[in-house]
Parts: sequence; structure tokens; C-alpha cells
Amino acid sequence: MRLVVDLNKCQGYAQCAFLAPDVFAMHGEESLIYNPHAPEEQRERLARAVAACPVQAITADGLEGLGERGTGSAQEAHDVR
Ligand code: SF4
Repeated sequence: MRLVVDLNKCQGYAQCAFLAPDVFAMHGEESLIYNPHAPEEQRERLARAVAACPVQAITADGLEGLGERGTGSAQEAHDVR
């Protein structure tokens, strides 16, 4: 599956490299290298890395429904009077 890291946003926190070491790696102090075509079996790790990135720099295709649960709608229940 394809992924993109916005390297302008990336601050080199290395959360992604920690959570999905087969996809992301740190090169030196703060430059990130990654595999833009991650293998399918990395999907779950990748989802965790996407969720963990503190600056939301990682975008990946086809991760909907994985990683985060309960994003949702129950919050605005008090709108109606
Ligand atoms: S977790 Fe986010 S900020 Fe940290 S290295 Fe990965 S892409 Fe960059």
C-alpha cells in the first residue's frame, strides 16, 4: 500500500520508526527514510505509526477503519433543546 510522509511536517520524533521499523527508519539524527510502498502485512503497524505521529505527517492509502476506533459522533448529543 502506498504512503507518503510530509517531510516538511515531520519533526523526526521517530515514533513511526519505533512502531513500524520495517517501513520507517531514522537516518542520522532527524532525517527519516521510509518505504513508500509498504507491504500489505505491515498494514496494522503502519496504522499505529500513522496514529502515533505527533504531527500527523504520515498519509497512507486504505487505512480507514484501522488504528483509531470510535472516532465519532456521540459527542454532540446535547445540541437539541
Ligand atoms: S512519527 Fe511523524 S514526526 Fe516522527 S519521524 Fe515519523 S513521520 Fe516524522
